[in-house]
Amino acid sequence: MIKVLRFFAIFLLFAASAPAVSQAGESSIQNIRVANHADNVMRLVIDLSEKSGYKVFTLKNPERLVIDIENTDFAEDLNPQLANINYLNKLRFGKMENGVGRIVAEVDFPPEVKKDFILPPQSGFAWRLVVDVETTKSDYAEVEKKKEVAAKPVRKPLLMIDAGHGGKDCGAISISGSYEKHLTLKMAKELRDKLLKTGRYNVMMTRSDDRALALRQRVQMARNAKADVFISIHADSAHNSAAKGLSVYTLSERASDSEAAALAERENKADAVIGMDFSDKPQDVATILIDLVRRDTMNNSSILADYMVVEMKKNVTVLPNTHRFAGFAVLKAPDIPSVLVEIGYLSNRKEELMLRRPEYREKLASSMVKALDKLFKNHNIMDK
Ligand SMILES: [Zn+2]
Repeated sequence: MIKVLRFFAIFLLFAASAPAVSQAGESSIQNIRVANHADNVMRLVIDLSEKSGYKVFTLKNPERLVIDIENTDFAEDLNPQLANINYLNKLRFGKMENGVGRIVAEVDFPPEVKKDFILPPQSGFAWRLVVDVETTKSDYAEVEKKKEVAAKPVRKPLLMIDAGHGGKDCGAISISGSYEKHLTLKMAKELRDKLLKTGRYNVMMTRSDDRALALRQRVQMARNAKADVFISIHADSAHNSAAKGLSVYTLSERASDSEAAALAERENKADAVIGMDFSDKPQDVATILIDLVRRDTMNNSSILADYMVVEMKKNVTVLPNTHRFAGFAVLKAPDIPSVLVEIGYLSNRKEELMLRRPEYREKLASSMVKALDKLFKNHNIMDK
């Protein structure tokens, strides 16, 4: 729990040129002590030199407790002792023109005066005015909750959207001759805009124009930005022109089937195409992090993929066994849940036409937004 440091502002209510010594018949307030008397009871003890008449009442906006003591003044060296009561915001005091000494405690809850009484001098104390103020526990819990929310800096999830391919790496080419790299960029931008429109996310893109990027660079960009989730957008292609449907991939060393393995191999070739092949480098970024983090990340990646599948199924055609596994290089950030979405087959004439329609891509984007909403709502992705 976050402890909020409280600053108790104490100042004079009214410009009172307080006399150093009490005049005849006038009491003097020697001390004010405020402490937690019980769980939900704040106790104020006011040390008085003489017995005095008093009045206790409450005021609103802000919630405050007021104690008026007749014909009294405050000792010059009065320095109230305040226990660390976090619902007490301010304690101030001062003498009013009619000779009344007023003490005001500003609190977070509507104060309810439970008890007030005067104790005669005893055990070395002078007269003591005691006021007990109660709040209900539910009030208190509510206040605490609000404080905690206010104290916690609200950080929006940062999503790194990766438009597959780019530059001289065109990706798959459709039968009509359109490039995967253009489609993925369009889709990525639409997803970005939709996410930003919710106001719930920060979004970055690995590329927002037609440029070549190595797979490892894309992963590194996500890690440098400390992204919370990485989403790579691709479109599939197959010899079988009837193949159609969306699929969502998460990382696995062992591909879920030979088709998945072949796809991963094709996508991983992007680096070779742009002349930045790191595949022979044995030192993987993943090896610098402990296995536990990686397992947690893979778990969260799978959760996101499953949410996406659920949402996509409601709106678009999906491949059987929609959530698949393969060794995509772009999914290898050890600490960022990552998914790769193959939004459909460019090799399927009908599906290519669908993918070119903004209304269809809108369905894809809103399904992804819903899946992300579920992920961040139901799982502790941000507490890394
Ligand atoms: Zn691709």
